[in-house]
Amino acid sequence: MMNNSTNNATDNLPVKKTGRAAVYEAPNAPFKIREYQVRDVNPGEVLARITMATICRSDIHSYQGHRPNPCPGILGHEIIGIVEQIGSDINNDMRGDPLRVGDRVTWTEYFHQGESYQRDIKNMPQKSPGLRKYGHDLVEEDPHFLGGFADYCYIMPGTGILKLPDELSDEEATPLNCGVATMISVVEAAGIEMGDSVVVQGLGLLGLYGCAIAKARGARRVIGLDAVPARLQMAKSFGADETIDVTSMDEDELVNNVHRLCPPDGADVVLEVCGLASVVPTGIHMLRTGGTYVIAGLVNPNDTFQLDGNELLKKLITLKGVHNYHPRHLIQALDFVMANRTRFPFKDMVDSKFSLEELDEAFAKASERSVLRAAVIP
Ligand SMILES: [Zn+2]
Repeated sequence: MMNNSTNNATDNLPVKKTGRAAVYEAPNAPFKIREYQVRDVNPGEVLARITMATICRSDIHSYQGHRPNPCPGILGHEIIGIVEQIGSDINNDMRGDPLRVGDRVTWTEYFHQGESYQRDIKNMPQKSPGLRKYGHDLVEEDPHFLGGFADYCYIMPGTGILKLPDELSDEEATPLNCGVATMISVVEAAGIEMGDSVVVQGLGLLGLYGCAIAKARGARRVIGLDAVPARLQMAKSFGADETIDVTSMDEDELVNNVHRLCPPDGADVVLEVCGLASVVPTGIHMLRTGGTYVIAGLVNPNDTFQLDGNELLKKLITLKGVHNYHPRHLIQALDFVMANRTRFPFKDMVDSKFSLEELDEAFAKASERSVLRAAVIP
C-alpha cells in the first residue's frame, strides 16, 4: 500500500459542538430538525461536512414504509462532502491519491468490517454479512451522523473513499455513489459489447445513466422504454436512439417493435430498471437467442413474476440480478462521468434544490416524480 509520511490528523479542523439532521421519525411523518453532538474522529474514520445529498428512489421506498429502515434515523446515501477531519491511519483515497482536510469526496454507499467469505474469497464486498449502508442507522447512537440529510456524515472504516476532481459540479458528483456506480455494475453484468442492441426498461435516473453507459461502451442501438413523455424526451439526450411509450401499444406490439428495431433476431441485452416485476417476461421475449437479461430495479421483497422455463432453455437466455456494486464500480463511475460530461448532460439530472428544512417538500416532489433528482443542500 502507498503510504504518506504526513500525518493528516494534525491538519484536522476543530469540530463544531453540534450539527443538524432532518430526522426520519416514522414512515410518512414530517421530518424533524434535531441537533446532535459532533465528536473528533476515531482511527479509520473521516468526518465530512455534507455539501449535497440527493433523494434516491430507495429513500422514498424507506420513507413510505415499503422497506424496513430504523427510526429515528437519517435517510440519504447519495452524499458528497468536504473532509473536515481524517483518522490518524488514513492517508489515501481508493485510487491511492493523498487524502487531505478540505478535499471534496464521494464514498461507497456501504461499509463493512471484519472477515468475510463473500468479500475476501468471492470478491463480493457489497454482499458481505454485517454490511451497513449509509442512511440506514439509528440516529441516537454514536456517531449519530451516518446519513445524507444532515450537516455532517462520518465515513466509517470499511468505506471506499474517492476524491472528486474540482471541475466536476456537485450536481454531477452526488449521484455517483448510488445511481451511476450501480449502473456501471449492471452494464458489466450484462456484458454489453461494441455493436450490441440494448433495451432499457424504465427511464428514471438509473435508466438514463444506463442508456449513456451502453452508448459509451459502443452499443449500436439503445432503445428506452417508459410511460412518462418527459423521460422519453430526456433519454434522447442520454444516448437513446429510439424511445417507445409503453402505454401506446400492447405487449405483442411492443415486443414486435423491439425485434424490428434489433435485426435479425432481437435485442442482445435487456435491462430492467423500472421496479415493475410484470415487465420481466416481456423483456425476455425481446431478447435474441443467447441474449442477456439483467434485473436491477426489483428492490422490494416479493416482486414475483412468471416465466416460461422452456423459453429460457430454448433461447439460451442468461438471467442475472444486480444489487449494490463493487468499490471498483465507483471509480469507474467517476471516470465515466468525467470522460462523458460534455457528451451527456449529467448536470441536468439534479433538477431541484432544497434546504434541510424543506425536506418534506423535497420528498413530496420526488415521490410524485415531478422532479428527476431532488438535491438537499444543508
Ligand atoms: Zn440509492
